[in-house]
Amino acid sequence: MSRFFSEKYQALAPYVPGEQPRDEQYIKLNTNENPYPPLQEVVDAVTIESRKLQLYSDPDSRDLRKIMAERLEVTEDEVIMTNGSDEVLNFAFMAFCDKHNPAVFADITYGFYTVFAQINQVPYEQIPLKEDFTINISDYFQRAGTIFIANPNAPTTIALKRDEIEEILKQNLYNVVVIDEAYVDFGAESCVPLIRKYDNLLVTQTFSKSRSMAGARLGIGIGNPDLIRDLNNIRNSTNPYNVNRLTAAAGIACLEHDEYNKMNCGIIMETRERYGRKLRELGFEMPESRTNFFFARHPGISGEDVYQELRKRGILVRHFNQERIRDYNRITIGTPEQMDAVIANLKAILENNGLL
Ligand code: PMP
Repeated sequence: MSRFFSEKYQALAPYVPGEQPRDEQYIKLNTNENPYPPLQEVVDAVTIESRKLQLYSDPDSRDLRKIMAERLEVTEDEVIMTNGSDEVLNFAFMAFCDKHNPAVFADITYGFYTVFAQINQVPYEQIPLKEDFTINISDYFQRAGTIFIANPNAPTTIALKRDEIEEILKQNLYNVVVIDEAYVDFGAESCVPLIRKYDNLLVTQTFSKSRSMAGARLGIGIGNPDLIRDLNNIRNSTNPYNVNRLTAAAGIACLEHDEYNKMNCGIIMETRERYGRKLRELGFEMPESRTNFFFARHPGISGEDVYQELRKRGILVRHFNQERIRDYNRITIGTPEQMDAVIANLKAILENNGLL
């Protein structure tokens, strides 16, 4: 830290992203990316758009918002496009949290929530998940704060039903409820159909997982036009050109061929069922996943050892040092070939440890 670093940020503990190795010697299953690359049409759209890079992007992302709204069956003023969904989540912390409206979220959830609270200097309250990592919805009733729920939750992979979230919404009509649907396309129920009924609901989604565009950084906020206006106020006060030209062009081309993304999600879900069974056969325990990753532990070997051993063998997964989840690893669902390598290596690790 320099001696100039603002006092406000001295206690900040930044989010630590999963490792992005510079070489390709690893099978990379540590950041929940999609294993299938974008279509050639997306690549072509970016190439063509790059001829206009001397010009700023559209600060309202109008063309992108139009097709996005069509796909979501909402209106354009119910949508904001952002630089990854991390940005819309940060905007929500800025717009809807303050000392009277602390942020409220689970103890085991997306690690960035605590960082957003800290950087925006808003108080936060963490509600413990139940022993089996499920959410007790009544813990979220009548909270005097802005609620953030990742649904499905990360890294636990567990989803609430839309009806359960609706219960939470009904019990919080005077505060904002943010539903982070980063992984919703892998088999959970979206709350987008509820935005007209609840003006306190903000849903966030991303192109990073189900749409194979993590590297382009494109996120979505969906909610009542007044909520979206507040978020646009924040956006226009921080970075009006938040979605760059190349990303907007990629996003439009990607949505023009959304059936490709849906097909890939289907393949990933099939891979999940097939390799989930194989992991369980090896003795791994994990919740039923509604995401593109597993959250698995083995009773015979520590989470840290599994992580280190896989790493030595060229496979990167994500291990968290947080007390309650130290036994687990988060394993992104890759291609069947990548998952075969995971199974073969886990088998060898278990055998070496006398566990098979
Ligand atoms: N929410 C959750 C639950 C996530 O796991 C992630 C991915 N790290 C994000 C939001 C943000 O993703 P992105 O900024 O790539 O849209």
